[in-house]
Amino acid sequence: MRDHSPPESPFARAKKSLGQNFLTDQNIARRIVSLLDIGPGDRVLEIGPGRGALTGFLAESLDKAGGGELCAVEKDTALAEHLRQTLPSCTVTEADALEFPWETLTGWKVVGNLPYNIASRLLWDLAERSGGIRLGVFMVQHEVGLRLTAVPGGKEYGAISVWMKNFCALTYAFKVPPTAFSPSPKVDSAVVRLTPLPQEQRLGDPRGLAKIVKYCFQFRRKQMGTILRPFAPEVVSAWFATTGIAPEARPEVVPPEAFLLLSQNLGKCFSA
Ligand code: SAM
Repeated sequence: MRDHSPPESPFARAKKSLGQNFLTDQNIARRIVSLLDIGPGDRVLEIGPGRGALTGFLAESLDKAGGGELCAVEKDTALAEHLRQTLPSCTVTEADALEFPWETLTGWKVVGNLPYNIASRLLWDLAERSGGIRLGVFMVQHEVGLRLTAVPGGKEYGAISVWMKNFCALTYAFKVPPTAFSPSPKVDSAVVRLTPLPQEQRLGDPRGLAKIVKYCFQFRRKQMGTILRPFAPEVVSAWFATTGIAPEARPEVVPPEAFLLLSQNLGKCFSA
């Protein structure tokens, strides 16, 4: 018997594997877009436009500002195609945002209601390689929002807090409840705003910093003196003396700039 059912709509089923929790609250969509301060001639890249909850407002804001450029990167083939059909002013690329060449973006604003499962990895990478972006506004899981914006001294402060602060200023803008999405996620979300540091304040070679923060926060309950015992003692004691950090301190109280100094001082000694 012939199948007379309509072809599957891209809206048929949200894909859990792609973190598809679609934003349905238009007020929140508008608030996110307004955080981008869209002005004349702006170029905006959206990560994961999905069903276009933010994309429509982005196009509208650019129009109101007198025009600009709107692009989007979407991994889901059907949703990418649907957006091309419904919003021709947006250039949609079907691709994995985790492989996006962030270093090629100069002067762009980046926005996205990020899939929970890739948000931390994507922002870690974007922070390091996107010195040229002007501004970023991202929705992430609430807990991730707290970690991204955490300051030393709290339980949320960790490797990603240190890493991000060496590349950009981040603020926690507002919290979003699960009821703002379909399907509803199990947890709250948060919108964060990211402003890259000027090029001259960014790290020359961040690989050492990435290694040292990941290494130290593996042992977040241990004291820095113990954690750093495998390294050259003269370098480590000079670091304690310069920074005024006590050897009994735990990683969660060490400020980002002290981790940066540590990575620079340890240099080649660090081979973990
Ligand atoms: N922006 C839409 C909204 O606010 O309703 C959708 C947000 S949904 C949380 C995440 C979107 O990112 C989905 O459309 C999903 O298909 C897409 N996505 C998931 N993984 C991706 C990846 N690696 N690269 C690009 N897009 C991805």
